[in-house]
Amino acid sequence: MMRTVSIFGATGSVGRSTIDLIARNPDDFRILALAGNNDVDGLAQMARDVGAQVAVTANPANYGALKAALVGSGVEAAAGEQALVDAAQMGADWTMASIVGCAGLKPTMAALKAGRTVALANKESLVSAGGLMMDAARRSGATLLPVDSEHNAIFQCLAGSNLDDVARITLTASGGPFRTCTRAEMAAMTPAQAVAHPNWSMGAKISVDSATMMNKGLELIEAAHLFPVGLDRIEILVHPQSVIHSMVEYRDRSTLAQLGSPDMRIPIAHALAWPQRMATPCQPLDLARIGRLDFEAPDEERFPALRLARAAAAQGGATPAVMNAANEVAVAAFLNGAIGFLDIAMIVEDVLNRYNAPVPTAIDDILAADAQARAMAGHVMERLTA
Ligand code: NDP
Ligand code: MG
Repeated sequence: MMRTVSIFGATGSVGRSTIDLIARNPDDFRILALAGNNDVDGLAQMARDVGAQVAVTANPANYGALKAALVGSGVEAAAGEQALVDAAQMGADWTMASIVGCAGLKPTMAALKAGRTVALANKESLVSAGGLMMDAARRSGATLLPVDSEHNAIFQCLAGSNLDDVARITLTASGGPFRTCTRAEMAAMTPAQAVAHPNWSMGAKISVDSATMMNKGLELIEAAHLFPVGLDRIEILVHPQSVIHSMVEYRDRSTLAQLGSPDMRIPIAHALAWPQRMATPCQPLDLARIGRLDFEAPDEERFPALRLARAAAAQGGATPAVMNAANEVAVAAFLNGAIGFLDIAMIVEDVLNRYNAPVPTAIDDILAADAQARAMAGHVMERLTA
C-alpha cells in the first residue's frame, strides 16, 4: 500500500539515506514535505527528483532562492519556523525527524501531537524535551520509532516485551576516533580529526559528539525516555567494531543483541517498513571476515561528557536541555576553530554548574532554558578566548 512520507532534515546524512531507500521503492511511497535549512540547491534538486508536494527551508532568508530553484517543478516552496510546523501537520503517514539539534523540536512535537508515526533520529529534541514529547505521543496515540542505531536495536530486542522483565539495557559505543587517545593528545585534535569517525559516516555535529562521547551521553538520556526501565538499568559498553548496536538483558539472564553493518539505512529501513521488513542494498554482516568483537568499559575520566550526561539525566527537569544547548554551542565553536576539543565538555560543565533552570511544564519552558544556556555558553566562551 502506498504511504505518504515527510522528511525534516532531508538534506542531511540521515535525510539522504532515507531518500535513498525511498527512491529504490518508488511505488511504495509518495513524498509530501521535504525540509532543510541552508542547502537550498540540494533541497530543490531532491524535491524535484522525488516529486515532493512542498519543500521547506527553515531559514526565511533562503525563501527567494528556494522559490527560484523550484520554478516550473510543481513543488511548492515555503520558509521559516511556522512553515516547518505546518508541514509537520500535513498528515503524512510516516515522518522522519532528522533535523540536527534542538531546532527539530517544534516540527517533531507538531507531528507527535497530530498522532502521526514519527521515526526519530533527532536525539537532541528528545534529550531536551523527552518528558513532554513522550506525553504528547501517549495522548495523541502517535507512534515513535527510534532510528538512532542503538535505540532501534533496543526496540528490536524488546520486540514488544514487558519492560518489567528487563534487567538491563546495554548501549554500545564505538568510542569514537579518540578512543585510545590521552587527554593531552585530545587537546591538540582538530575538527577534521574529530569528524573522521572510524565506523560511521555522519553529519559534523554528531561526529564531534562521538569524539567527545557526548553522543553516548545524549543517547543514555534518549534511552531513558524511550525505554523507561530506570537510569541504573542502562549501561554503556565500548565496542570498537560497531557490529552489536545494543543489547537487552532480561531477568531470566537471557540477553538479546541486534547486529548489522554500520550503515544507517538498516535502522532507517526498519522504521520505514515497520511493522514489516523491507530489502536494503546494505552489506550483509560477514562475521568470519570481522573475526572478533571487542568490548571495554567506558572511561569517564578521559570522556567527562559521559559523567555530565548521567548526572543531567538523574537531575531531570530542564537540566538535559541546558546540557544539550551548551553542547550545541560548544560543538559549533569547535567546528569553527574558536575553541579546542577539550573545551567542549569544559564549557558544558561550566554552564551546568552555573544555571539551574526551572522545571519545565511546556515546550516554551524548554526553549527558554535552551536560549538561556546558549547565552551562558557564549559568555563562558568569551572569557575562555579573551
Ligand atoms: P546533518 O548535519 O548531516 O544534517 C542535518 C540536517 O538538519 C540538514 O538537513 C540540515 O539542513 C538540517 N538543519 C540544520 N539546522 C537546522 C535548523 N536550524 N532548522 C532546520 N533544519 C536544520 O546531520 P545528520 O543527518 O548526521 O544527523 C541528524 C540527526 O540525526 C541528529 O540529531 C543526529 O544526532 C541524529 N543521528 C544521526 C546519525 C547519522 O548517522 N548521521 C545516527 C544517529 C542519529 P541543511 O543541510 O539544508 O542546512
Ligand atoms: Mg547512535
